[in-house]
Amino acid sequence: MVVPFQGLVDWARKNSMWPVTFGLACCAIEYMAIQNSRFDLSRFGMEINRASPRQADIMIVSGTVTVKMAHAIRRIYDQMADPKYVISMGVCATAGGPYQGSYSTVPGVDNFLPVDVYVAGCPPRPDALLYAIMQLQKKITEREIDEGHARWRAWERNYIQSRRA
Ligand code: SF4
Repeated sequence: MVVPFQGLVDWARKNSMWPVTFGLACCAIEYMAIQNSRFDLSRFGMEINRASPRQADIMIVSGTVTVKMAHAIRRIYDQMADPKYVISMGVCATAGGPYQGSYSTVPGVDNFLPVDVYVAGCPPRPDALLYAIMQLQKKITEREIDEGHARWRAWERNYIQSRRA
């Protein structure tokens, strides 16, 4: 069987994602649950949650993001290894959730991170997060991720230049 080299790279990428150890609020409990024997995240090659962002390539934002935390989260993301992926877990991370419109809450983590997959729910069940991980793997295989990241980086570059002008 002959496999194109790029196909081999994509296969390796999608089956060896290492999440950065990271939880912000109640959604993090559901995130922790996918590590147990019932849901068994190890099936996806993701059993190792890395304590250092430099050894991780996927960030699962699980919980409410406050304005104070946003800078720290972005710094962790910047320190992660490329290519890297982001899953926004729960309505708080995606749109501010019940705190939407408050002075302290970011109305969606995609204001400062390129989110690849969103998970609905408050909180989403571990099954929903597993489904999101499978969707991310599909996007990696179909090479949708690189295009999405390129678009996001172009938008971020333009935004920074417009702020400086
Ligand atoms: S989405 Fe719901 S469960 Fe998740 S952090 Fe927000 S309030 Fe908590």
